[in-house]
Amino acid sequence: MKKINIAIDGPSGAGKSSLAKKVAKELDIIYVDTGALYRTIGYYAKQKGLTFENITEVVDLLDEIKLDLCYKEGVQAVILNGDDVSDHIRTSEISMYASAVSAIPEVRSFLLDTQRDIAKEHSVIMDGRDIATVVLPDADVKIFLTADPKKRAERRYEELKAKNPDISFESVYNDMVTRDKNDSTRAVAPAIKAEDAILLDNTTLSEEESVKEALRIIFEKVGKYEVL
Ligand code: C5P
Repeated sequence: MKKINIAIDGPSGAGKSSLAKKVAKELDIIYVDTGALYRTIGYYAKQKGLTFENITEVVDLLDEIKLDLCYKEGVQAVILNGDDVSDHIRTSEISMYASAVSAIPEVRSFLLDTQRDIAKEHSVIMDGRDIATVVLPDADVKIFLTADPKKRAERRYEELKAKNPDISFESVYNDMVTRDKNDSTRAVAPAIKAEDAILLDNTTLSEEESVKEALRIIFEKVGKYEVL
């Protein structure tokens, strides 16, 4: 089987991780969730008492951070200085911290090798914001996954409500719009579609249809029998 690298970028709530997980299973390759790395740095910054006002001070803490990704039965876990923090990084607050630290160039370069090293060694489908433009510019397949903002917020809301029944749709929508704006307008590695990426808008597609469409794009690009 040929080694392949697939890049999936797009705004929050587009369904990148659900789609990438299913495609990874179908192709028997590794799914790499790069957002989890930024979330973990954001989580560390919060633990250390940083706020959005002094968030750039996280740069001085990078030396103290050792990050590892490990896979248990295909599920990614993030290990921060020896502790599995995967269950602590999915809150709305940590999403905003992740977005704040992700605009800092030193944080982005700190995480670059971790992401590239995995893709060098394994066939991966990697999701994020700058995978096709910066992390893996030579990826075999590049997909930019998006959907209507209201639809994306609805999906995120359903996801978050399961853990926090008091959360309001407005707060989820507003946070998402703020985060998208931060991510797509920042000076370094803004979240934009790579010129050679294929746009997949799944506003009116079910999860199953999105996966089917992504697989169609992948097979068209690299040939079904090359990857299976
Ligand atoms: O994908 P997820 O919502 O977990 O990402 C959290 C945040 O991490 C994003 O809002 C974005 O600011 C940042 N991120 C990034 N580049 C990536 C992945 C995530 O800047 N490749």
